[in-house]
Amino acid sequence: MANIVAIVGRPNVGKSTFFNRLIEKKKAIMDNEPGVTRDRHYGYAEWIGKYFTVIDTGGYVVGSDDIFESAIREQVVEALEEASVILFMVDCGEGVTPWDRDFANVVRSVNKPVLLVANKADNTERIFAANEFYELGLGEHMFPISSNSGSGTGELLDEVVKHF
Ligand code: GDP
Ligand code: MG
Repeated sequence: MANIVAIVGRPNVGKSTFFNRLIEKKKAIMDNEPGVTRDRHYGYAEWIGKYFTVIDTGGYVVGSDDIFESAIREQVVEALEEASVILFMVDCGEGVTPWDRDFANVVRSVNKPVLLVANKADNTERIFAANEFYELGLGEHMFPISSNSGSGTGELLDEVVKHF
């Protein structure tokens, strides 16, 4: 099975920033298939000699009737289906929001490895604040990272590639 990492989470937590950082070196974006309308972005990344595809997704908003949001929801579900490892991203600056709780339930219902990624852990205070996300009940692994500075991303990727 292909090594596919899906980055999911509510809007504005930093998914695309992290995606761009991951694929930066390779710049080998395998974009959407022609004629297929979907809002998922594919990139190719490497970490310690292991190669994998990364999927960036839009934000999933649970329970909305908005037609655009339901389209986003569909593409998130498809990304979860494709994934071999799921990165569920939250925002240390904001703490746990109701959207994170709903999203955690969706991610939990998929029977795949989920790594909880607490982004925007830009300083010690934020890294400490990230502990609050353990309440989402997504296993013992939680990775505080800063997609801006790159701190913590090495530890996260070490764990990701263990699944390949
Ligand atoms: P997405 O909607 O989840 O894809 O989020 P984006 O990647 O578009 O980022 C949303 C906002 O968060 C942008 O203003 C980013 O610059 C900011 N952001 C992303 N990563 C970090 C980070 O590690 N620290 C801080 N302070 N801001 C970040
Ligand atoms: Mg984005």
